[in-house]
Order: sequence, then structure tokens, then C-alpha cells
Amino acid sequence: MSRLIRALIDTRALQANLSRVREVAAGRRVIAVVKANGYGHGLVTAARAFAGADMLAVARLEEAVVLREAGIHAPLLLLEGVFGPEELAQAAALHLDLVVHEAAQLALLEAWRGPWRFALWLKVDSGMNRLGFRAEDFPAARARVAALAVPPAAVRVLTHLATADEPDDTATRAQLARFEACVGRLGLETSIGNSAGIFASPRSQGDWVRPGLALYGASPFADRRGVDLGLQPAMTLVSSVIAVRSLPHGEAVGYGATWRAVRDSRVAIIAAGYGDGLIRDCGAGASVLVGGQRAPLVGRVSMDMLAADVTGLAGVEVGTPVQLWGPQLPVEEVAGRAGTIAYELLCSLTGRVPRVLNPPPA
Ligand SMILES: *Cc1c(COP(=O)(O)O)cnc(C)c1O
Repeated sequence: MSRLIRALIDTRALQANLSRVREVAAGRRVIAVVKANGYGHGLVTAARAFAGADMLAVARLEEAVVLREAGIHAPLLLLEGVFGPEELAQAAALHLDLVVHEAAQLALLEAWRGPWRFALWLKVDSGMNRLGFRAEDFPAARARVAALAVPPAAVRVLTHLATADEPDDTATRAQLARFEACVGRLGLETSIGNSAGIFASPRSQGDWVRPGLALYGASPFADRRGVDLGLQPAMTLVSSVIAVRSLPHGEAVGYGATWRAVRDSRVAIIAAGYGDGLIRDCGAGASVLVGGQRAPLVGRVSMDMLAADVTGLAGVEVGTPVQLWGPQLPVEEVAGRAGTIAYELLCSLTGRVPRVLNPPPA
């Protein structure tokens, strides 16, 4: 295994985060969201770590195929539903639960003749205005489900919150009220909370919660880190120094010569770049840990490497380990400096970065 960039995946942290979510969402069932390659941690790795969840969820049929081919038979929810009769047949063969969020998906189900009976999750648009039936269209959608030739194995309702991560909960309360007005009297099981909803309030959880980010140990709130929520970061992105240069005062580093040494400097070149999914503009004040010591990034991030100012740091040489994010350098902090969110950094890691399980698979 290369000693260059790799993502160490702490499977015990993934499991501990599931336990933490269960504690916060006591009495609810948990749908562990593993879409987008398990938020960068590996789709199958994440699904195996969350074997203790009540259900798994992915966004796309292709992701469901990968899980079933890996021998994962857990209940599995397709969050965007299906588009076309072939996809419906494939979803049946894979024994998926389906989100149903628009009329064409109802038409597909009306033409379905089995034998698989889908569990259907009718999505209500309570104000996100992305997917789901609006309140005025919901009764007709539900009536069509009730009239299906192949009766569903279950009918449940879900909605998604737009601003549950924000301190002002006015919009969330309006969404919850709209959802309640739409489905409150039907006696159906509900699913509401994503990570932010789960940690914001029990009111924004529902009977089934749908955590993603929190399971990977990161916080959806701008002012809090995963550890503040009792979560453990599950990914440590590491690499190593591949060259160390002494740079006389006035010399520049990297493309565009955007940084110049204002003193005689030592610069470490590190094997990590945007070809691995890092952001080219890491933002002012961005740093990495070189041999456990903070070192500011200098110059532009290129495809395969970046540079850090290690002037005055002891023991930095070729092979010195580097942490790009992880327990000692929260991914939320790295994302904040780069003007983005932990979600994007984690999902952006490319296929070139080996994911190394820790502890290793038995
Ligand atoms: C991705 C997704 C989630 C998980 O969201 P997090 O913010 O990562 O917890 C939940 N529900 C739906 C519908 C999603 O698409």
C-alpha cells in the first residue's frame, strides 16, 4: 500500500455514531443514509458498519445494485424513486423500498403487476420545494396508492427540512406544521429528520429518522463540530511529505507564483491535490498537520500535490506523515476555511484515494 494519500476509515467510529444517533432519537427507527459512496467513506464499508440500523438509504438505483451485489440484504430505501418501467422492475428484483414524489411514479406503480410488493414512502413537499407532493395534491396521490392493483407492503410518509441546521427555527416550524396538517390525521408512520433535524429537536425527527452526515462523525451545524454533538470523526485523510525545499526569501511556490517567501523558508511538498478531491482554493488560514504540527498551506493546490510552510518545525523530512483532516483537524474547520461544508469535502474524495479500513476487515 502506498504511503501517499489515503483515507483511514474508522469502522468503530461509524458504529459509535449510529449508537449516538439512536440515543438522540430514542424510540425512533433509523434509516442510515449511505449514498454518494457512503459520504466518501465507501458505500459497502458504510453499509456494513451500519448493519445495526433498521434500514439503509441511497439516492440512485446504481448504488442499490452495488449494495445487493456485495451481499447486503438489509431493507433499502431509494430516496429519489424510479424513473421508467425497467427501473421499477429492477427495484423489485433488488427488493427496494421506494420514495414516491411525483405523479409519473404513481403511474408506473399503477402499471405494476408484481409479484414484489413495494413499501412506498410518499413524499410531501412541506416547503423545501425540491421533491414531493404539495399539500393540495397529496390526498389524490394517496388515493391513487390506495387503489393500486398490487397493494403496497406498507405506506409511509416523509418530508425533508430545508433549514433545520439554522438557529432560527421559524421556517422549520412552518414546515412541520404544514406536514402535520397534511398527514397528521392519517395514522401513517412518518420520517422527517436528517442529521440536523435529529439533533435540532425531537419534533423534527418523526417515527423514522434519516441521518447521513452525523453517522460519519461530522456536524451539520455551522457553529458546532461533530465532537460537540457526541460524534466521532470516522475518516482521517492522511498523506506524507514527498519533498522538502529550502526557499530563499523572495522565491515563489507553485503555479501562478501566488505565494512568495517573506523570509528564508522551508516548504514541505505533500502528495495530495485536487486530483484526490481536495479543493483548489483551500482558503485563507488553511493548514495541515505535518508530523502532528500545524503548518499553513502556501501557493496553489495542484492536481497531485500541495505545499505547506514548515519553517521552524522540527523533524520534517521525506516520509513525515501528514493529516489533511481527521480527529486532530476537524473536517468542518477545513471546509469552513475553503468556503464549503463537510458534506462536500467528504463526498468529493476521488476514486484514486485508497480507503483503508481501521480496524482491518476480519
Ligand atoms: C441525503 C439525505 C438525507 C441525509 O441528510 P444528512 O443531512 O446527511 O443527515 C436524509 N434524507 C434525504 C431525503 C436525503 O436525500
